[in-house]
Amino acid sequence: MSESNTFHLGLIGWPVEHSLSPAIHQAALETCGLTGSYRLFPVPPLPEGRPRLDELFTELRHRAITGVNVTIPHKQNVIPWLDELTPAAQTIGAVNTIFNRDQKLIGDNTDADGFLTDLKSRIPSENQAQSAVILGAGGASRAVSYALAQDGWQVIVAARDKQQAQALVADLKHEARFSLQALPLEFSRLRGLHPDLIVNATPLGMTPNSRDSIWPEVEPFPEDCFVYDLVYNPAETRLVRQARRAGLQAANGLGMLTEQAVLAFERWTDCPAPRLAMQTAAAEALQESRPGSEV
Ligand code: NAP
Repeated sequence: MSESNTFHLGLIGWPVEHSLSPAIHQAALETCGLTGSYRLFPVPPLPEGRPRLDELFTELRHRAITGVNVTIPHKQNVIPWLDELTPAAQTIGAVNTIFNRDQKLIGDNTDADGFLTDLKSRIPSENQAQSAVILGAGGASRAVSYALAQDGWQVIVAARDKQQAQALVADLKHEARFSLQALPLEFSRLRGLHPDLIVNATPLGMTPNSRDSIWPEVEPFPEDCFVYDLVYNPAETRLVRQARRAGLQAANGLGMLTEQAVLAFERWTDCPAPRLAMQTAAAEALQESRPGSEV
């Protein structure tokens, strides 16, 4: 908790100006009756951004800043400035939330649990912990794949760069019970699989390229699978529309964004996060947002 009882929160990234996070966390602070603010800290990519990161970490150490979120391109860059990583951040190899505990700066990854919490609120319990295909092998895929593998799912990561998928699987598979496999992103290879869940972890379909979809129109979806698109701008992505037209249940990534914020807010404030107020603020901010925002 902030020593002055004022919560100085924010987001480190580049670019950050279209972020929905200020609206989500401002609503949370107000609903909880806490004093504070959530500011944007634009930090250019390294090496140019290094002096600014030095300054921000000095402020975090002195609690002039209570805690921050971290987004592209700094989710890995910030690791050398931290004292400890949570097991999730360590395994995923990326940090999206930083908080101060007992004079130590801790890096966490709340994308993983944020995704899983939102997913579990949407699918029936009998369809949970089965098989999933994750499309893409970047940072978000790492968090989602880790969350699902930890939860007992059989995870297949399919990427256009098979080596990227293989590296992800090798990094995450250090726990013997995890079931992970890498495949090239070729629909002829995916067709024989019957996953219960498909996750788009690529940026395809994101505004302004809302006509794109990772899933070809001619390709049938597996029967009864749930389609989860990490993209949430536009609110109904082309992939979500395709899935619903095929009679499937589908969701965009706004729930994950809100749930990762819930977890971060609780790390920083030690207060139960007001989920409903945060969901409402996220949806309103998305409606008002300009194209291209995804953080
Ligand atoms: P990233 O690290 O850049 O990874 C993107 C992945 O998508 C890479 O594997 C990339 O492959 C692949 N990809 C990009 N364009 C592709 C294409 N045309 N066809 C096939 N694969 C393609 O990005 P990220 O951080 O993982 O984010 C991915 C998406 O998730 C973004 O839209 C992001 O905004 C969203 N996201 C949402 C949340 C949320 O809370 N809802 C959280 C995190 C991320 P290459 O390396 O070969 O380009």
